[in-house]
Amino acid sequence: KGERLRLPPWLKTEIPIGKNYNKLKNTLRELNLHTVCEEARCPNIGECWGGGEYATSTATIMLMGDTCTRGCRFCSVKTARRPPPPDPEEPYNTAKAIAAWGLDYVVLTSVDRDDIPDGGAEHFAKTVSNLKERNAKILVECLTPDFRGDLAAVEKIALSGLDVYAHNVETVRDLQRHVRDPRANFDQSLSVLRHAKKVKPSVLTKTSIMLGLGETDTQIRAALKELRDSGVDCLTLGQYMQPTKRHLKVEEYVTPEKFAYWEKVGQEMGFVYTASGPLVRSSYKAGEFFLKNLLE
Ligand code: SF4
Ligand code: SF4
Repeated sequence: KGERLRLPPWLKTEIPIGKNYNKLKNTLRELNLHTVCEEARCPNIGECWGGGEYATSTATIMLMGDTCTRGCRFCSVKTARRPPPPDPEEPYNTAKAIAAWGLDYVVLTSVDRDDIPDGGAEHFAKTVSNLKERNAKILVECLTPDFRGDLAAVEKIALSGLDVYAHNVETVRDLQRHVRDPRANFDQSLSVLRHAKKVKPSVLTKTSIMLGLGETDTQIRAALKELRDSGVDCLTLGQYMQPTKRHLKVEEYVTPEKFAYWEKVGQEMGFVYTASGPLVRSSYKAGEFFLKNLLE
């Protein structure tokens, strides 16, 4: 495999920055929150933070530090076998800060903490319950690790009071070993999503797949079918972007037309919500969709 692919024109466009963006950005510094939006230099930040047509704002907050115990080949997060222990005050301080920040929808996520007995499930759950106590209106999504298949950990979070339980399968079944850390796999991820739905059927489950890693259409279709058969409600599909030269190369820049095709397939398969596009990320404008469609 030779040269790196050139960036196609649809990934070079400027994205408009909404009204709330500066307000959120200014208050963020004082609150000491770490957002994936900023740290991953997400291209959607203007839209997510700024609020779109429905003037909602969404942000993704990282819990339990910036160092992961795993090393997926697509991800630029730092890795260590024993990262510093999580701050026990974080669930309270974060909840307080988010409640004060003025978001409509928040995604709480974390690195994988295989070094902690419950993988940090209690930490997630406490953050959600504290946040909901302070602001009952805010919609909360947790985007969680797989907890090595520990369903008690999944259950703790599913019952914490959140609205959306998200866990990403990241890629099709056949590319799991190539793309994700060897401790992750498709069946384990499916079992996480299935269990969250089982213990709390009113919670929406959600997953995300990156395209452009060399997967075939047949493999994508099979993955979607398996997800739907496992009761997954929401699906996002976006373009994989290589974060540094040391990470997996982009095999293909999938065209916007092809993404639109997959969105249609997702809808036909019966997902409640399918978002598919080159710049779609797992939390892309989630607030806008959920506030508009699910709370009416
Ligand atoms: Fe933040 Fe996710 Fe929106 Fe990107 S897509 S700006 S990470 S909320
Ligand atoms: Fe990155 Fe998550 Fe993989 Fe850790 S588990 S390396 S944070 S994708």
